[in-house]
Amino acid sequence: MIITEVLSVGTELLMGQIANTDAQYISRRLPDAGAGVYYHTVVGDNGGRLSGCLRAALSRADIVITTGGLGPTQDDLTKQTIAREFGLELAEDSDSRRRIDAFFAARGRKATENNYRQALIPEGAEVLTNDHGTAPGCIIRGTGEYEGKTVIMLPGPPNELRPMFEKYVMPLYRRLAGSAMVSRFVRICGKGESEVETILMDLIDGQTNPTFATYAKDGLVTVRVTASGNTEAEAAAAAERGAQAVSGLLGDNVYSFTDEEPEQALIRLLKEQGLTVAAAESLTGGMISQKLTSVPGASAAVCAGCVTYSDAAKHKLLGVKQETLTTYTAVSAETCREMAAGMRALSGADIAIAVTGYAGPRVSDEPVGLVYIGVACADGITVKEQHFTGSRERIRTLTAVNAIDLTRRLVQKCAPFDAV
Ligand code: ATP
Repeated sequence: MIITEVLSVGTELLMGQIANTDAQYISRRLPDAGAGVYYHTVVGDNGGRLSGCLRAALSRADIVITTGGLGPTQDDLTKQTIAREFGLELAEDSDSRRRIDAFFAARGRKATENNYRQALIPEGAEVLTNDHGTAPGCIIRGTGEYEGKTVIMLPGPPNELRPMFEKYVMPLYRRLAGSAMVSRFVRICGKGESEVETILMDLIDGQTNPTFATYAKDGLVTVRVTASGNTEAEAAAAAERGAQAVSGLLGDNVYSFTDEEPEQALIRLLKEQGLTVAAAESLTGGMISQKLTSVPGASAAVCAGCVTYSDAAKHKLLGVKQETLTTYTAVSAETCREMAAGMRALSGADIAIAVTGYAGPRVSDEPVGLVYIGVACADGITVKEQHFTGSRERIRTLTAVNAIDLTRRLVQKCAPFDAV
């Protein structure tokens, strides 16, 4: 195991102005490369304190990855400080200077003198080219006191750091680990994290290759299956076997084997089957349509969306009967069923999703979290009653995610499915 410490540099981070998503990204990726992260450190733009943190990190880690502070201004002092600590001079890297010129030329601008500070690299360091910005990263391999220690410096902006990390850092770790590592993701909707862990308990217990890790967010659980092997193919086969074992235990709750969101999976399935979808939303106020239309290429599958918040709108736009609204109220299986049927008729879509419920916070005695999700398709109308807990935002998000997933389940079960 290669012990790694992430040392993030930036006063903005310390002041809480930005979240340390760089450290989060790096820590999420490194287990796939056989590395263990024991510490995250954050330090402001201060040379003395940065030196202190660097020394502490080098005393307890094999590799220290720094983020930020590689920019052109005086307070960007990561490279200078680390070079000094390793007893190295900074020298201009001509290729980096050319890249800085090309970066500005492509935007019809000229670099200013301080931009070239970014082309200064500690002597002997490996340069990591930045394909999305001007600050190159670099790798210093320690000698003497720091023999066997490595410092990898990456730029702060996530859109620069992530591609650089994938291009240079992951392969470096894999080479050091001397083996191939492959991860597969099994994505689940419809079961909570502890339920998933209980179901997978026997599989997970005592497993060393592959290993399983679960994460939960917004009603979704992801199981990461990571396997190692002597070759990429061997590791991939072991990871695939692990993913299939997870899928075998979780059945229809698995909606994808890639890092896809539920809406991406649904749009993919709808396109494969040539089906269209529309959504009538009450408590989610358009979140379902927003999620569906955020998927590139959604226009081939998304037909229409309607926010019907009031009883009058449910009646007028979707044709929900006054009698239904009076007898059963707007939050009822009956209203949801008529919303779905009405939306399907109104839009002409093959499938219509409808949601109605109480998002809270409680104003009278309505049961906050009670939600009905309906899906109308050629085979009929399915309505599910759900009870969610948490804040207004959480109830709305869970409603949208589960509505999309219920539709996915029906589309998969209905296949092949005759369009109307
Ligand atoms: P550049 O030369 O492109 O400015 P840099 O390496 O000097 O890069 P910083 O000046 O430290 O980076 O930060 C630039 C921006 O990058 C910050 O304003 C912030 O938006 C983002 N950033 C920096 N550090 C982090 C971090 N740890 N997590 C997420 N975003 C970060």
